[in-house]
Amino acid sequence: MISFLDLKAINAQYRDELVAAATRVIDSGWYIHGTEVKSFEQEFAAYCGTEHCIGVANGLDALTLVLRAWKELGKLNEGDEVIVPANTYIASILAITENRLKPVLVEPDPQSYNIDPANIRVALTEKTKAIVAVHLYGQLAAMPEIMAIAEEHNLLVLEDSAQAHGAEANGKKSGNWGNASGFSFYPGKNLGALGDAGAVTTSNAELAQTIRALGNYGSERKYENLYQGVNSRLDEMQAALLRVKLKHLDSETLRRREIATTYALGINNPEIQLPVSADVSANALSYHAFHLFVVRTHNRIALQQHLLDAGIQIMIHYPVPPHQQQAYQNWRSQSLPVTEAIHNEVLSLPISPVMPVAQVQQVIAACNSYQA
Ligand SMILES: *Cc1c(COP(=O)(O)O)cnc(C)c1O
Repeated sequence: MISFLDLKAINAQYRDELVAAATRVIDSGWYIHGTEVKSFEQEFAAYCGTEHCIGVANGLDALTLVLRAWKELGKLNEGDEVIVPANTYIASILAITENRLKPVLVEPDPQSYNIDPANIRVALTEKTKAIVAVHLYGQLAAMPEIMAIAEEHNLLVLEDSAQAHGAEANGKKSGNWGNASGFSFYPGKNLGALGDAGAVTTSNAELAQTIRALGNYGSERKYENLYQGVNSRLDEMQAALLRVKLKHLDSETLRRREIATTYALGINNPEIQLPVSADVSANALSYHAFHLFVVRTHNRIALQQHLLDAGIQIMIHYPVPPHQQQAYQNWRSQSLPVTEAIHNEVLSLPISPVMPVAQVQQVIAACNSYQA
């Protein structure tokens, strides 16, 4: 069986370094808010090109805490509208509703699967105060256009970078485009911890300070509480392990991109639509991190069965769009045909930095032998 993502093999590459990092933490006797977190925050901010990085407990908290901080700072108020792509992982939207802000679901561009700037313009109202730009599957959303709209209409931009560590457009990295960005280090992400972890990046010092306090009981000084905060901290163990993984992120991304190129050149089946990525075609200015390699097909069940019979594990990102989830049942009447078609037709092929070349070729052969 070709596994979708072999986390054991990915982390085994760095076993000695990971064990050394874990041992350092165990032996230090200091497990929360110490030198490992501080160092990781500095290293990850430098990697993204931002002034600040704040470690938090997970990616959802990263997004939620940015919006919460903007409320505390008086930049957002309950009921304000926040534009967000309709086809995203539900966390992008949960962060908005958790803060009692109003998500306005916007259709994506059917080529990139990322939010369509033209549709953002149509969705703008007097109440629009922010945009959540998700870099889906590892490719940056149309950030130059999105930032231009935001500037024109005085909107805040929060990037959801959970799938796009190290991705770029115009030489600028994911996490350094908006006013702030949320990252997830869930084990399966391109930069994955060995447990839950997340971070916010920003170059705004006031925002960074507020998020830092909010994630630590609303406190900047012990036993002095400025806000009704939460406990959302990156711990020393995950930070130490992430420092090891960060050193290898760029080489892993390169390997993902090689596999993506091999797929793009090798898969030649009219029933399988390949991802359209700006940088594989013409625009060398963008850099896709290929968190996922997502193809599209009319009869997904048949393709899924064909690949399974060939011993290939696939996944679907995602089978049900947020507006059709039980959690948001009052949105069911919304019609979002582009999003719905994408959710019915996409399928993610295995892509991981440890996939042997022979497995990549097996996936290509299986795709090419599929008949609808
Ligand atoms: C994984 C993910 C998140 C949430 O990250 P967690 O660390 O699991 O909370 C948010 N947004 C997107 C797009 C994701 O893929």
